Amino acid sequence: MEIFRTAEAIQQFALAANRSGKRIAIVPTMGCLHPGHLSLIHRARELADTVIVTVFVNPAQFGPNEDFARYPRVFEHDRELCEANGADVIFAPAPEDMYNDDHSTWVEEAELSRGLCGASRPGHFRGVTTVVAKLFNLTLPAVAVFGQKDAQQALVIRRMARDLNFPVQIEIAPLVRDPDGLALSSRNRYLSEEERQRALVLSHSLFAARAALQETGAEGIPGVLAAMRHEIERVNGCIDYLEALDADTLRPARAETKELLLVLAVYIGATRLLDNQRVTFA
Ligand code: AMP
Repeated sequence: MEIFRTAEAIQQFALAANRSGKRIAIVPTMGCLHPGHLSLIHRARELADTVIVTVFVNPAQFGPNEDFARYPRVFEHDRELCEANGADVIFAPAPEDMYNDDHSTWVEEAELSRGLCGASRPGHFRGVTTVVAKLFNLTLPAVAVFGQKDAQQALVIRRMARDLNFPVQIEIAPLVRDPDGLALSSRNRYLSEEERQRALVLSHSLFAARAALQETGAEGIPGVLAAMRHEIERVNGCIDYLEALDADTLRPARAETKELLLVLAVYIGATRLLDNQRVTFA
């Protein structure tokens, strides 16, 4: 497995790989890899000849009061997992190598990125779409694999790739959970044992909501959201957002909605956790 640290080096590698007819897949990550990330690497392995995992804690997608400085950086752990799971290349640049001091060009998706995390974290998606566009230009992939864990991010990136004609297939892989239901996340490391127990309310209330909605259809949405709110607040979860949206457009669900996205962001203590479930109506 090769490791590249600079934009120039990875781009030279990708150009050479493309010239020799290799199909490249990338898996963009911020590192601190867990089995959710590994499932993306396995999917990428199925879809391409050369799998590049990018490990980059992207300063542009963090707000001034967010956890950029303390975000876990564990490169040796990430390197071992990439190697053991079939990645061919890690691209792990330093922030200075990705952003010039006078960087002044941004990529902004202006529709799907407005609500949910976009409303709570101003500038977040602009940072995400900008870095993903840069990573596409540096790694020249045929396919890029993202996780359903970040459902809104996946939709925003798919829209960006379509709107800007990136010749990149956007693949969205299923959300991976711990056996007790907790969605795997690098930020789970911030949770105490007691907080981790309380955090189970996210997935458990989503599972219950999904089952209830399959009985009631879209009519049941207000009742189901109220029940979730109650369950989450009962364990002192602080709800940032909790919504039932059309899974493709992220507009409010309507009676005709066929595919619903139940999506939430909740603080357990100081840690903001995301989770979601799709519900298909017959
Ligand atoms: P991150 O390192 O948190 O930026 O995540 C990198 C990629 O891994 C994103 O596409 C995430 O959606 C995906 N990912 C993170 N956690 C999970 C999970 N539990 N299951 C599936 N994909 C995940």
